[in-house]
Amino acid sequence: MRVRIRWHELGLKGGNRSFFVDRLKKALLAACADVTGVRVKTRDGRMYVEAPDDAPWPLLRERLARVPGVANFGRTRVVPATLEAMREAALAELGAGGFASFRVRVRRGDKSFAMRAGEVETDLGSVLAVATGAAVDLETPERTLFVEMSRETALVSGEREPGAGGVPVGTAGRVLALVSGGIDSPVAAWRLIRRGCSVALVNFHAFPLQDRTMQDKVQELARALTRWQGRTRLLSVAFAPVQQAVVAACPPPLRVLLYRRFMLRIAEALMPRVRARALCTGDSLGQVASQTLANLAAVSAAVQAPVLRPLLGMDKTEITADARRAGTFTISALPDQDCCQLFVPKRPALAAEAEELAAAEQALDVRTMVRDAVYAAEELRFTFPPDHVEVRRLAVCP
Ligand code: ATP
Ligand code: MG
Repeated sequence: MRVRIRWHELGLKGGNRSFFVDRLKKALLAACADVTGVRVKTRDGRMYVEAPDDAPWPLLRERLARVPGVANFGRTRVVPATLEAMREAALAELGAGGFASFRVRVRRGDKSFAMRAGEVETDLGSVLAVATGAAVDLETPERTLFVEMSRETALVSGEREPGAGGVPVGTAGRVLALVSGGIDSPVAAWRLIRRGCSVALVNFHAFPLQDRTMQDKVQELARALTRWQGRTRLLSVAFAPVQQAVVAACPPPLRVLLYRRFMLRIAEALMPRVRARALCTGDSLGQVASQTLANLAAVSAAVQAPVLRPLLGMDKTEITADARRAGTFTISALPDQDCCQLFVPKRPALAAEAEELAAAEQALDVRTMVRDAVYAAEELRFTFPPDHVEVRRLAVCP
């Protein structure tokens, strides 16, 4: 079987194109690594996944739908560019019926064919109408038959599945995303994966002051995200010592913001470990007290690294829709113990200044706290396919 892969041309211009195409090929192959006999080919500027005819299509379809960089894809028959062969292929694709309306769309790459695209559309349309009893509907058909004609061959496809969109993973650099068990941060990571980033995750947990529910959830979230990028590194950081030190020495209204500053600092210290160029959080403007513009700025001031916030301008409904699509929503919705709720007052500061936070931190040994947290970090490596997790202790302090 042959599956035509289409990508959006945007961003694929000039010398970058072969780099993008190469990454896309690798990603497609990796996504189907456990299906025997899958190959990826480019011919005449078109990309195909080729698989044995008995390869399980539902599995392939599921895998291909999660490869960033694919705009859409569809199983395709390759036949000689003759009217007879195209009719036969059209019947094989849609002749069984089961739909009330359809249309035929023909694109003609090679103009030497005697008939115009419109004429071929009419011809194939009437053949299908007779075979299926369905009506032609050019506006909102239930099904569409796509035909692409070139000099000698025609590609006939009865379906066009939506792809993940975006650009291939690995074309936009590495990012370290701060991920909690909540709904937002996994979506932020997913959005960057779809923009071509290879995203490593870091989670801060308060075990043993709290149970392991958040850690378990974050592992499942990492698994879900790995289905989009093939490999994920998750750094797990014990945060209870930091929280206890902050609680002992700093004013209660500033606690959450101070926790956040420490999270960013520790994450920044871990960036070389995963060769990340930027950090990422799931903040969305104004969603909670710690996410006012003033507070986001005061928190970011603790680090030099760029802090990407892909959800900043999104509202909860939009984020939730993305979470469902990413496959993280049901995991995030499970109850957990969130370390940020530990020792926090009912009225956190709404507009802190970086100077105020820095002054509160005078009472702490910031460098040692960050170093100790980094030393104690653990790493988990996820791959898919096959679905696999490996746990390591960090060997060296970055
Ligand atoms: P989420 O749904 O991701 O928890 P949120 O909108 O609830 O996000 P907060 O809980 O205020 O926001 O956290 C803001 C951001 O800080 C999160 O999106 C995440 O990037 C980071 N963060 C918060 N808690 C943790 C944690 N325990 N480990 C790692 N990152 C965290
Ligand atoms: Mg949260």
